[in-house]
Amino acid sequence: MRETFLPYGKQWLDEDDIKAVIQVLKSDYLTTGPKILEFEKEFANYVGANYAVAIANGTAALHAACFAAGIKEGDEVITTPITFAASANSVLYCGGQPVFADIDLDTYNISPSEIRKRITSKTKAIIPVHFAGQPCEMDEISRIAKEDNLIVIEDAAHAVGANYKGKRIGSLSDLTTFSFHPVKHITTGEGGMITTNSEQLYEKLLLFRSHGITRNRDLMQEEYQGSWYYEQLELGYNYRITDIQAALGLSQLKKADRFLKRRREIARLYSQAFKEQPNLITPLQQDDCDSSWHLYVVRLKLDNLKCSRRGFFEYLQQENIGVNVHYIPVYKHPYYQKNGYQAVKCPNSEQYYETCLSLPIFPKMTNQDVEDVIESFKTILKRNGK
Ligand SMILES: *Cc1c(COP(=O)(O)O)cnc(C)c1O
Repeated sequence: MRETFLPYGKQWLDEDDIKAVIQVLKSDYLTTGPKILEFEKEFANYVGANYAVAIANGTAALHAACFAAGIKEGDEVITTPITFAASANSVLYCGGQPVFADIDLDTYNISPSEIRKRITSKTKAIIPVHFAGQPCEMDEISRIAKEDNLIVIEDAAHAVGANYKGKRIGSLSDLTTFSFHPVKHITTGEGGMITTNSEQLYEKLLLFRSHGITRNRDLMQEEYQGSWYYEQLELGYNYRITDIQAALGLSQLKKADRFLKRRREIARLYSQAFKEQPNLITPLQQDDCDSSWHLYVVRLKLDNLKCSRRGFFEYLQQENIGVNVHYIPVYKHPYYQKNGYQAVKCPNSEQYYETCLSLPIFPKMTNQDVEDVIESFKTILKRNGK
């Protein structure tokens, strides 16, 4: 058994990241300075989008995207239950109604045919989530959106650097959101980004990030009164990111491809090691996509095991292997149950949730760390086989 606890995800910071932050601390701007625009430009370039807006966190990114998409009271937005609560909460922030469409049991992503079944005259948008970094079926989702005139907001918190049919996630839909929490691909401590190809949506995102206030004379509605003058045009928030964080983001972004390569190596090592394990289902690798491997999720064949998922989880934790569970179907949370979601049933999502386990995966893991996870898994599988 390993001596130190191995978490499921963790940041990787080097001296140059720290230097980049210190440089900003010694400069004139801690916030609203030049590093933010620089980070936005580099990120837009990295994902191949026309515009990027850096923001306080990934949840604020989703909130801003829903605002820019015009989600309001009476609107329905279709999303997946197998996601972090923020994907659905952002719809509620705008007064809209999240509607849950079940997942496919091969990719664990939202099922396009289930989306179709949930569309009503009130549906305004779809929020697909590239779960674990595995791209959703975007061609089919775009087709559905076109047919019904819906906006698509991709939650790409897991998908920095993921590829869908040769294209980086971040330029395929109306809006795409990212998170830079320390367990995600690159980190700014807290932070997020929204990318879009639409200038109009870009302007809305900028307003929303800073109180709905503009200093852009082209957007002003009243007579310009002097160089102190600004106008509040919308009800926005203070969702700004600092230059300190943007500098860290810029430094991290330079390493994004290296981090990604290591995540893919670790995933390959796991898949190789578990190929012959009859009681584990390893993640699918789609031929025409490259996952960014934010998570490596296995499912247990509990019918063949003597222990429960909880038992299996606890054995691994005892071995200092920080497995995790992603996610409790969002509508199962007490808040959703109390607010009209008791009747929701997504059988695939529930079945998935009962059996899933996320293994540690992050670029700084050593081959020995990977080996420790594999050894512990094999031992526990052996001990608990029927
Ligand atoms: C992390 C995450 C978010 C929220 O990002 P924060 O930066 O933590 O606010 C949203 N959606 C998904 C799927 C996530 O994993």
